[in-house]
Amino acid sequence: MALGGGDEVDLAVRAARAALTDWHRTPWPARAEILLRTSLLLEQRKEELARLMTREMGKVLTEARGDVQEAIDMGRFMAGAGRRAFGETVPSELRDKWAMTMRQPLGVVGCITPWNFPIAIPSWKILPALLAGNTVVFKPARDTPACAMAFVEVLEEAGTPPGVVNIVFGRGDDCGMALVDHPGVDAVSLTGSVEVGRRVAEACGSQLKKVSLELGGKNAIVVMGDADLELAVEGAVWGGFGTTGQRCTATSRLIVERSVIADLTDAFAARARALRLGDGLDPEVEVGPLVSRAQLETVDGYTQVGRAEGARLLVGGEVATEGTLEEGWFYRPTIFTEVSPRMRIAQEEIFGPTVVVIPADSLESAIGIANDTAYGLSLAIYTRDLGRAFRAITELHAGIVYVNAPTIGAEIQLPFGGVKNTGNGQREAGSAALDEFSEWKSVYIDYSGRLQRAQIDTMRGAAHPANPPPSEGAAPPATPPQG
Ligand code: NAD
Repeated sequence: MALGGGDEVDLAVRAARAALTDWHRTPWPARAEILLRTSLLLEQRKEELARLMTREMGKVLTEARGDVQEAIDMGRFMAGAGRRAFGETVPSELRDKWAMTMRQPLGVVGCITPWNFPIAIPSWKILPALLAGNTVVFKPARDTPACAMAFVEVLEEAGTPPGVVNIVFGRGDDCGMALVDHPGVDAVSLTGSVEVGRRVAEACGSQLKKVSLELGGKNAIVVMGDADLELAVEGAVWGGFGTTGQRCTATSRLIVERSVIADLTDAFAARARALRLGDGLDPEVEVGPLVSRAQLETVDGYTQVGRAEGARLLVGGEVATEGTLEEGWFYRPTIFTEVSPRMRIAQEEIFGPTVVVIPADSLESAIGIANDTAYGLSLAIYTRDLGRAFRAITELHAGIVYVNAPTIGAEIQLPFGGVKNTGNGQREAGSAALDEFSEWKSVYIDYSGRLQRAQIDTMRGAAHPANPPPSEGAAPPATPPQG
């Protein structure tokens, strides 16, 4: 892959700016048609793209198909939104005056994405950005350029005019930063780590650029004593080890009521030990490799941290090298028990197949532990008690809450995002998607033919026969009869 820098970013931003006016003038439903064609083309090429993804970043093929499916769904959803991009018509306080709102694009949007959902996450940004009339410069992660390029080729084939979507490849601190800093970029949408989010937010803040941040997580499943334990174990296996734990919503903490912690941990450990690692293209394989050597080293580093902190390593905790596993970045699904909530392994995002089990004495203490991290993306509870479920729904401090399901599994028709260090309050997908990529314009149309002054020439403000101003010394209004 050729590494682009400031010059390539400048070319891309110029192309995006040149395409902006015409794209903005293209009617919403016409832009939406292109998104529908994108969705249909992705569907036709789903298997090919999924295989490319598995080869490029390692997630198992069934999950890679799910990744492409998210983009297909987003295309359909945004295509429909193109005929429903409603504003409001609001009554004016003055006669013969009309008032309404409409969405307008932000301009040129920089979309910066991670490698763990190499087609889904770009689609969450680029499709609503295009629908709203923006043009885009897309900077994908260095680990997944092939998926990113394939996605942009689909957009091109679907009829996106030249200059409307542009792609630049390169390092984050070089190419990515040049995009964020470029004066021709009006807004930035980043999905990535908290450290990068901070740097991007600082750079945007100094230029007063709109910025949307979807950052890390330290998600938890709470398991109460009354829960269906088999279901909870299935949820923990899928939430903890799906995508080899490399999801922002991955279940990395299991907070369990003491009465069931032994049974739950035994069953969870047995399932984790039995998971089959290997090449994600093999349909028998359940857990693929980590994305890179660097990621493998980070995950193994956290195993050493957990050991040093005094947690008990129950399962895994090592690089897997038997047979062909030696050829990839495979790490054994790992479970730590005897973990206390303030340990680093219980607080920091690991982004690998590591789950820590933390005991809790009650629903209240479980919710307290679940909420006690710097992140707030996805939290879940397993319980059969409706009251406990609703208490958790209300008090878990996160952007997404699940009941009797793990912390992963978001659907594109609902808003996605988190609180605290997980982001800056923006939401992607769902009805919120267009809010990220458009601004409201308020429009007033006065057809009275004379100057009318808001707040002054109103029924209340003017000396109107129906509402005369009180004259000095006038009797106070009569008290209406009671009862
Ligand atoms: P990362 O932060 O290292 O990189 C994300 C993107 O930012 C990449 O394209 C990278 O090149 C770019 N980048 C890096 N430094 C930059 C800079 N100074 N200026 C501009 N761009 C820069 O993250 P990653 O390792 O690719 O992905 C993993 C992280 O992403 C995890 O923390 C994970 O939780 C998070 N993530 C969050 C969500 C969410 O929706 N909340 C979804 C997926 C992943």
